[in-house]
Amino acid sequence: MALRELVKYPDPGLQEPCEPVQEFDEELHRLADDMVDTMRAEAGIGLAAPQVGVGVRLTVIDLSGGTDPAALVRLVNPKVELEEGEIREEEGCLSFPEVILTVPRPARVVVSGQSLEGKPVSIEAEGLMARCLHHEIDHLDGVLFIDRVSPLKRDMTRRRIAKRIRGGDW
Ligand SMILES: [Zn+2]
Repeated sequence: MALRELVKYPDPGLQEPCEPVQEFDEELHRLADDMVDTMRAEAGIGLAAPQVGVGVRLTVIDLSGGTDPAALVRLVNPKVELEEGEIREEEGCLSFPEVILTVPRPARVVVSGQSLEGKPVSIEAEGLMARCLHHEIDHLDGVLFIDRVSPLKRDMTRRRIAKRIRGGDW
């Protein structure tokens, strides 16, 4: 088990598009394993590679919080092929400790991507899984959940975070 350090907002690496994965090698598997360990240690349900400081298109998701091995998804080079509907719900992000925002996301998505072995995969999802996939793929495009709320809410959240950073509470 190897944990990686979480990258927090406003690190610039969180706000840049990631590079596609081209080599499905040992290093990729190790990164995915470390990301799963880190996600579980932080009690998260999703984590994207830039959140551990690696700018590649890899994400891990586990809605079961580690209780169901079959629930673990490791997705390379994911892309939203189709999105339908819109639901506004509260969500958090491991790069924004204790920040909860109500974010509009598609109700249903179809996502294409690859396995860690480079095999093509397609995932159809709704509800929390659709929200989570959309949130993590946003990360790979350098888009954060504060970018998806109103400018007023965004400014308010940024100010709160700046205050917490100044107070050493971030
Ligand atoms: Zn996030």
